[in-house]
Amino acid sequence: TANTGDLLPRPRRLLLLVNPFSGRGQAMQWCQTHILPMIREANISYNLIQTERRNHARELIREISLPEWDGIVIVSGDGLMHEVINGLMERPDWEQAIKTPLGILPCGSGNALAGSINHYPLLLNCCFLLCQGGIRPMDLVSVTISPLPSKNSHAAAPRRLFSFLSVAWGFVSDVDIESERYRGLGSARFTLGTLVRIASLRSYKGRLSYMPPSVVATSSNGTPPPRRLLSRSITEVLDQNQNTSRPRPHSLLQHSSSNSLPPKMTPPSFSPTPPSSPSCSSPRSSSYLTPRPNTPNSTLNSPSFQMPSSSFNFDLNEPAGLLRNRPFVSLPFDVPRDDLLPPLDQPLPTRDWVTIEGDFVLVLALYQSHLGADLHAAPHARFDDGLIHLTFVRAGISRATLLRLFFAMEKGNHHSLSSPYVSHITCKAFRLQPLSPRGTLTVDGELVPYGPLQAQIHPSMARLVVG
Ligand code: ADP
Ligand code: MG
Repeated sequence: TANTGDLLPRPRRLLLLVNPFSGRGQAMQWCQTHILPMIREANISYNLIQTERRNHARELIREISLPEWDGIVIVSGDGLMHEVINGLMERPDWEQAIKTPLGILPCGSGNALAGSINHYPLLLNCCFLLCQGGIRPMDLVSVTISPLPSKNSHAAAPRRLFSFLSVAWGFVSDVDIESERYRGLGSARFTLGTLVRIASLRSYKGRLSYMPPSVVATSSNGTPPPRRLLSRSITEVLDQNQNTSRPRPHSLLQHSSSNSLPPKMTPPSFSPTPPSSPSCSSPRSSSYLTPRPNTPNSTLNSPSFQMPSSSFNFDLNEPAGLLRNRPFVSLPFDVPRDDLLPPLDQPLPTRDWVTIEGDFVLVLALYQSHLGADLHAAPHARFDDGLIHLTFVRAGISRATLLRLFFAMEKGNHHSLSSPYVSHITCKAFRLQPLSPRGTLTVDGELVPYGPLQAQIHPSMARLVVG
């Protein structure tokens, strides 16, 4: 903006970070042909830096002087945005730094955030919006992971990072990682990856807990949270299953408060097969559908699980060795504090939480409307709605239904597809405890160490250039 004494407002200054590896490797070319001409035309001054390797941008962002820039623009996919956000949060001045306006010009294969801003023609429209410069707040999600020990490595101390897009376990993260080998196809790599994975469908054992949005953390004077709203959200999950004569796909619905359930919650008449007991699971209650108190439920409290303390080592047998030589920086736990969550090694509070245990095909936590530029996976999500949009699909779903689900997602009308195996809910925080010893987890589409994980939303922490 112009000072009264100035003749002209000074041009905006943008730092462009270009990842030449993203998508099919055309980011630099698109800069020359599409992006830079438009930015010059808009009288915006810029510096362009090509990233040289993974985490280059993250390290750079930790060091640079931020007041010199009116915005940082990612010319890549979602992976580079993830690096920049975490670079900002790793700075001593994170509170100020994370308010730096961020823009994205889609040149990657996973362009979810850009897809959420504008659908098509993606790159030119996003560039146009960037030049306009309007800024909106964006929620960030703090993610804490406790890597499991594996054959080649000791368990490591819990890690913390910030996420702007997604946490995925099972089908979605498998596709993301496995489709790296089809990178030459651009975003079609996800379609091919999806078809391949549907052909050999897997499921994973796990325990998913979440805090519905209506619940406010119990106040210090012990006032209970609004029960009515809490019950509704649990019932939603149940209702979906009661509308069908098929066996219920999940083996246990556990609620953390033993005396607060509506009559509707009494166990329906069918006998689920008890899950085979994984080595580190908690003792089972006799009825798999009987709500029970949140007994020290966690895997983390069982005798066979020890909270890791040694320094971090990756399992080199992780999928495709992608984690090899990959630094994984952890943020301190007081940047900013997760007030809704106990530490990951402690049980969840005795109320306010809903827990589902069983076999999952996928768990996907999303906080943007798009999972990919053409995948409208959380149609109700907004940049700053303060909500995590959680979708989970339980084992038992047919391949055909799963395929229909993904096709419907392209248009964003998959919420109307009713399947007893598919649930969509919103929450403020969740905890995911994979009970299968192997699998993949991604945060913003980037592979992270496998193990128990929890996350909480931090509303409007960052700022996004949306035009
Ligand atoms: P895409 O959507 O195509 O996957 P991303 O922005 O997600 O694009 O980037 C893919 C990966 O490339 C990310 O993990 C990022 O950290 C990494 N990366 C960044 N710069 C480079 C580089 N110069 N060479 C190789 N990988 C890089
Ligand atoms: Mg990516």
